[in-house]
Amino acid sequence: MKIKADTGRCVGAGMCALTLPQVFDQSEDDGTVVVLDAEPPAALGPAVNRAVQLCPSGALSVGR
Ligand code: SF4
Repeated sequence: MKIKADTGRCVGAGMCALTLPQVFDQSEDDGTVVVLDAEPPAALGPAVNRAVQLCPSGALSVGR
């Protein structure tokens, strides 16, 4: 899986970083999402999907 993050849509809510800190962080400048691991192991798939669903701005998506 490949994670895409649209920092233009990100509102810095931080749900992703709270849900999955191994994969997501937030910029110290403006709080927007920083993807630490854009291709996480398959075992993290369910957690990644949960983080994508929890993002209030729809800034995150997952592809192959
Ligand atoms: S949950 Fe969405 S809006 Fe919040 S920091 Fe993550 S990508 Fe940005």
